[in-house]
Amino acid sequence: MEKLKNYINGQWVESHSEHYENVLNPASQEVLAQVPYGNAKDVSDAAEAAEKGFQEWRSTPVSKRVQYLFKLKTLLENNLDDIAKTITLESGKTFLEAKAEMVRAIENVENACGMPAMMQGEFSEDIAKGIDEYMIRQPLGVCACIAPFNFPGMITFWFLPYALACGNSYIIKPSEKVPLTMTKIVGIMEQLDLPKGVLNLVQGARETVDAILEHPAIKGISFVGSSGVAKYVYSKGAANGKRVQAQGGAKNPVIVLPDADIEMTSQIVIDSVYGCAGQRCLAASTIITVGEHKDITESLVESAKARKTGFGLESDVQMGPVITAESKNRVQTLIDKGLSEGGRLLVDGRNATVEGFENGNFINPTIIEDIPLDGELAATEIFGPVLSLVHIHTIDEAIRFINSGKYGNMACVFTSSGSNARKFRHEAEAGNIGINIGVAAPVAQFPFSGWKESFYGDLHGQGKHAVEFFTQTKVVIERWLKEWNRKF
Ligand code: NAD
Repeated sequence: MEKLKNYINGQWVESHSEHYENVLNPASQEVLAQVPYGNAKDVSDAAEAAEKGFQEWRSTPVSKRVQYLFKLKTLLENNLDDIAKTITLESGKTFLEAKAEMVRAIENVENACGMPAMMQGEFSEDIAKGIDEYMIRQPLGVCACIAPFNFPGMITFWFLPYALACGNSYIIKPSEKVPLTMTKIVGIMEQLDLPKGVLNLVQGARETVDAILEHPAIKGISFVGSSGVAKYVYSKGAANGKRVQAQGGAKNPVIVLPDADIEMTSQIVIDSVYGCAGQRCLAASTIITVGEHKDITESLVESAKARKTGFGLESDVQMGPVITAESKNRVQTLIDKGLSEGGRLLVDGRNATVEGFENGNFINPTIIEDIPLDGELAATEIFGPVLSLVHIHTIDEAIRFINSGKYGNMACVFTSSGSNARKFRHEAEAGNIGINIGVAAPVAQFPFSGWKESFYGDLHGQGKHAVEFFTQTKVVIERWLKEWNRKF
């Protein structure tokens, strides 16, 4: 059985930890590899290498740094199928979903190739007589990313290309549940021949994260995961003087107004709820109909029942398993909770089995109707293929319900009325808004916003926010006296 290694200072090295855990295929429980739960020594080795790598990298011209990213784009494209297969094997999502996530990763590499212009400074001549003032952007130093399980390839790329293009060196800490994808990608990135120490990967879990939060050489941390851990990482990292951006969990509501196009809405909503088996931070979770709802309810039920669950490498499969047996139990317990609160099951996906994959963590699409708006299910992130359907009388009531939630990752409205859409956009408290869109995922040039308990920090991933996060500004005020002019 392959024992995964760390990548430090341009070499694959064994972890100093003796604690290894199995990496499982969630569709079958087959053991794919063993991952070390790295310790503080692993992190300090990586941080020291990255600190040395940083010195050479920061003085490499930005126009030269982005040449590595141009090559990286081609390498990722050439290896797309191979990477996507690994994503499917360890995360359970379908091959098409896995490819789509890597396309998003590549978009971020492309966007960061514009860094020579994006990190340009500013200049004002004569801010006082004979005095000029300018601002330059310089990299922070060693930065690190702590990633969740649900996008094993993409999420690191919300940060990594920008960090490198800005001149930082980098440490990747993948989720211990899906460590194979980034291990494969770093293996591919070896072909870039980056200076030693510029790119590092440390495997591990909680102990590794704590070591990252404590190491003095690490200056910037990008975290994505559940809200509790995001808050912890943000507070501890900031208390240790680090710049931190921490994206947390979500509970994404969608309002369907009576004038929405039923067929289009139903298809888009179903894809949003059940894509990646509901394990997306932008998965629609609570669907709120306003007014008449018979047609949309029937359409959602029909589409949910038609969705095929199975092993993601089989071509006709539309939805894979959830990540672990514990996740399956948790999601099924939440469905039971909704029922005990008064909800009614329209589609029951519990205890699903797939022929040939009897040990997989499968849950079929589930719809539960009329859960109480002040109940536990309405407030809890499910992170599984469960749609809660509630019916409300007015758009104001629906927006009030949305704004009462603790998360603020995404909120969507389906309507053919521009003024209702505008009202929603203006009033809904969420960082990503969809108008007739089911997964409002910002493309690479926009920040991946998130409000309330969905985000801790100031600057988000991607786009200009990433440039600001991965650089610190230096302002120079400069005076040269005429008398110093030499006559040659
Ligand atoms: P998680 O919080 O369990 O783990 C995320 C990372 O934190 C992992 O690398 C893990 O090793 C580490 N970690 C876990 N527990 C820790 C602890 N107690 N102390 C220190 N480190 C710890 O999240 P997950 O289950 O891997 O991912 C799912 C969550 O991520 C969901 O809540 C989802 O909404 C969220 N998510 C958010 C976004 C976003 O953009 N806001 C994107 C993707 C996923």
